[in-house]
Amino acid sequence: MTDFPRDAILVVVEAQGSGELEKAAAGLFAAAAAAGTPVALVLAAPGAGSAAAAEAAALGAARVLIAETSDPAALGVPGVDALSAAVDQVQPDAILLSHSLNGRDLAGRYAARARAAVCVDAVGVSRDEEGVVAHHSVYGGAYNVTATATFGAPVITVRQGSIEARATAQPEASETLSVTPSGKPAARIDSFEEVVAASSRPELRGAAKVVAGGRGLGSEEQFALVGQLADTLGAAVGASRAAVDAGYIPSGHQVGQTGVSVSSQLYIALGISGAGSHRAGMQTSKTIVAINKDGDAPIFEIADFGVVGDVFKVVPQLISALEARKK
Ligand code: FAD
Repeated sequence: MTDFPRDAILVVVEAQGSGELEKAAAGLFAAAAAAGTPVALVLAAPGAGSAAAAEAAALGAARVLIAETSDPAALGVPGVDALSAAVDQVQPDAILLSHSLNGRDLAGRYAARARAAVCVDAVGVSRDEEGVVAHHSVYGGAYNVTATATFGAPVITVRQGSIEARATAQPEASETLSVTPSGKPAARIDSFEEVVAASSRPELRGAAKVVAGGRGLGSEEQFALVGQLADTLGAAVGASRAAVDAGYIPSGHQVGQTGVSVSSQLYIALGISGAGSHRAGMQTSKTIVAINKDGDAPIFEIADFGVVGDVFKVVPQLISALEARKK
């Protein structure tokens, strides 16, 4: 027996040392609210749990379970132990995690231990008469498909930035989760060096606005134009694989099938033809703007706004116009 809601959807969210929840949290609670009652499992550093629990309630969690790690150097296993304990208590109809590196890692590890089914990279979640269903955008956004488990609660990872809705805030009802360590062997962090981000730009994964450049930029020097427009808009910088392969920008910026998937509010494609493998990573963006000198470029098939023109003529004018509006 459990005193948790019968239609509970367990949302796993990570808190930073300050107690701030990961950026994807708001979308995860909204996705859960569309399919049942959101219950949060907050994975936090020692001392960070209560601030994180308050934020989880504000984002829509009806109940919050706090699991502060007792061994921050252990990788993977403490999270799986906490999730297993939370599932035993809550008996949820589904488990939602962010499709982030850590979210995917935890989803896979937990599913292997619990023999659960995983639905990855969902862009929406709903419930039908048989249970919770994950919605996916596949084959470069050409098809929308649904997936679910035929047994047990599905473990669903949700693409960052794909859920626009927000859940209604709930009064805080939090408690500490009691976790019995499984004692399973965990990889350990012996030491680490913090890499200070050299850029003040938003991170590509989960960014609300993305300006991406392709082979049409022509050179590493000229690719700077992409960064200039991104900075004017407060956007992250993305790139096509051709731009990455040509050495215009490091591979971490690649958007697409073999790069990062984004679901931004605004996606501006500069000098990108719109190959299926690029579209696979950006087609679920809400507003797509394309600037390309070839009016027949496939990117225009999915663009909400298109400019047929030379990026080196159009983009500087766009930047000037945006700067003028800021004054
Ligand atoms: P191009 O296709 O060469 O297009 C350049 C565009 O710039 C053209 O449309 C041209 O009209 C325009 N242009 C040129 N000059 C200007 C100018 N001055 N002003 C305006 N427009 C201009 N690609 C990805 O992006 N992401 C992936 O994850 C990815 N994964 C792949 C996986 C596999 C297995 C394979 C086989 C391919 C993958 N690709 C991926 C590559 C993909 O198929 C395309 O080759 C690539 O996306 C093309 O990049 P592009 O649009 O920048 O270059």
